[in-house]
Amino acid sequence: MESRIPGEPAAPLYRIDRGPVLLTLMALIETLDLWKTYVMGAEEIHALRGVSIQIDRGEYVAIMGPSGSGKSTLMNLIGCLDTPSKGSYLLNGKQVSQMNDNELARIRNEEIGFVFQTFNLLPRASALRNVELPLVYAAIPAKDRDARARAALEKVEHGSRMSHKPNELSGGQRQRVAIARALVNNPSILLADEPTGNLDSKTGIEIMGLFERLHKAGNTIVLVTHEADVAAYAYRTIHIRDGQVENDVRRAA
Ligand code: ADP
Ligand code: MG
Repeated sequence: MESRIPGEPAAPLYRIDRGPVLLTLMALIETLDLWKTYVMGAEEIHALRGVSIQIDRGEYVAIMGPSGSGKSTLMNLIGCLDTPSKGSYLLNGKQVSQMNDNELARIRNEEIGFVFQTFNLLPRASALRNVELPLVYAAIPAKDRDARARAALEKVEHGSRMSHKPNELSGGQRQRVAIARALVNNPSILLADEPTGNLDSKTGIEIMGLFERLHKAGNTIVLVTHEADVAAYAYRTIHIRDGQVENDVRRAA
């Protein structure tokens, strides 16, 4: 950066420009030389081999790669489900790499909304109760939980079937409920692993349309997929191969 003031750190946490105040905030996700090694008996499997990526708030990113390339491993690290063998991971300014299980559970609940291929809803609970669940873990009072869960279901256009149980809903409706559950805590990141993998193509397109609206509304989305037509919805695609970033491509907004 030529405009750097002598003595200023190379990567300032923020910079205030003249005129309207612009804050150049640090990246929401910043991984530095992330390694994940699984030990299987005498064998070591390097699932990730030095992944360094930055994702800013408000980005919509797809992580693509062939089977076994390390996508799920990377998603588990980004989602604070696991810690790396080596390297650092800063999420929203917090160092995740060294956290213990309790700290990981807390940061997950605060920062991450997960959407899975198989929806992972509680079968005996209504749509509304499923969406309320993260708020129960966050110890939000019952009255507020109900209002927030209803609002999240409205956001995903699932306002009319709140009392239905998952088996009374179609695949697309289940995924909407799962997305509402992911959003209800106002997470920093929506992390979706093959969210259309169990849907027919028409329903898949509707769900990708919903992600697009959530992105336009300011949500940060990281989508893991092996399908190019799903990745095409994102504005940036990070290709993973053999545990490394192969390339990182942005398209015009
Ligand atoms: P992808 O999601 O892209 O298919 P993964 O992240 O699941 O890839 O796996 C990357 C590599 O790490 C693969 O070689 C896989 O076999 C290995 N691997 C993943 N999870 C484990 C585990 N828990 N124990 C041992 N090896 C694993
Ligand atoms: Mg996988």
